Amino acid sequence: MLASEVRALFAVASRPEIVSLAGGMPAVDALPLEAVASTMSDLVTKRGAVALQYGSAQGDPGLRARICDVMAMEGITDAHPDSVIVTVGSQQALDLLTRVFIDPGDVVLTEGPTYVTAINTFAAYQARVVHVAMDGDGLSPDALRETLGRLAAEGARVKLLYTVPTFQNPGGITLTQPRRAEILEACRRAGVLVVEDNPYGLLSFTGEPVRAMRADAPDDVVYLGSFSKTLAPGMRVGWALAPPPVTARLVLAAESAILSHSMLTQLAVERYLATQPWPEQLKEFREMYRERRDVMLDTLAETMPPGTTWTRPDGGFFVWLTVPGGVDTKAMLPRAIAARVAYVPGTGFYADGSGRNAMRLSYCYPPPERIRDGVQRLAKVLRAEIDL
Ligand code: PMP
Repeated sequence: MLASEVRALFAVASRPEIVSLAGGMPAVDALPLEAVASTMSDLVTKRGAVALQYGSAQGDPGLRARICDVMAMEGITDAHPDSVIVTVGSQQALDLLTRVFIDPGDVVLTEGPTYVTAINTFAAYQARVVHVAMDGDGLSPDALRETLGRLAAEGARVKLLYTVPTFQNPGGITLTQPRRAEILEACRRAGVLVVEDNPYGLLSFTGEPVRAMRADAPDDVVYLGSFSKTLAPGMRVGWALAPPPVTARLVLAAESAILSHSMLTQLAVERYLATQPWPEQLKEFREMYRERRDVMLDTLAETMPPGTTWTRPDGGFFVWLTVPGGVDTKAMLPRAIAARVAYVPGTGFYADGSGRNAMRLSYCYPPPERIRDGVQRLAKVLRAEIDL
């Protein structure tokens, strides 16, 4: 296992004088806390005997049915609650899947860069993580076919393609629909299961929900979802939708991991969705994050030195910044912290040491004026670094 650079960084970045563009923490203070409180209080007083009891490892059936309604918003209209397992955040689904599918040395394909904790999970089960190149349209189908061919020639066992196709963490990039079809086809031919990790899909700034890959390939995709970004990560409620034989194995693995998910938080989420105007809440989140994205992009354009490039996300939380002039973003971080701004160096998002000239910036948590300050400070530090 690797110590997470991100975790160490969070301790520093949470100091109040530092503008943290590092963490991916959702702005839970925008939630109507009174409504959350009354939902939870009602739940305990009216259904305490169930909410405070053990549940099943697959999760509450009522919540699983509501999860199917949520996925329908992204074009998944054929999901059955029996094919869903509720997990402790989507992170647990990723852990269970890796446990079920990976023997030491098996290959997991991922975008490069990809979600840092996924890399750590795969490493914990001794998978070999192989990155596939991506560009502004997401994962490259040509690079995927080339990588699959090379690995087949080597005799490698390629088990999974892990992808965050929509508003990616860390790139902010969305895989185009034509590429989705090509990637599904290449994986189907190679017998590789696609893991579509989609915690940001409902946070689109254009209003158009992005069609999930799972919507077009029910037998070939395991879909991971989460209420962490659209409600609250403290609930720790996520899920996996998988072909039935896979779901059955995930449930067995979950039984040995946790016996039962928390009934209290599962039912709290279920009741919240049933009784509160959650679609309105989603709309507010989208507007708030879009404003923050705009402030970040505008300030980057105003302040960054020539040669710096960045992505322009249509949803989610993250911008990926590539710096010029041989600057090493990891070496620069202490000077950024001294200037009271934090980011995550790019190397954390690769298993192979790439990413020295890049960083992830998040706009989800600080209010707009702090984002502006933070980007201005960062630009100053970067200019000084280039002049060194
Ligand atoms: N996948 C991705 C791409 C994420 O960004 C995150 C949260 N940072 C997760 C999974 C895990 O989310 P959770 O366990 O809170 O559902």
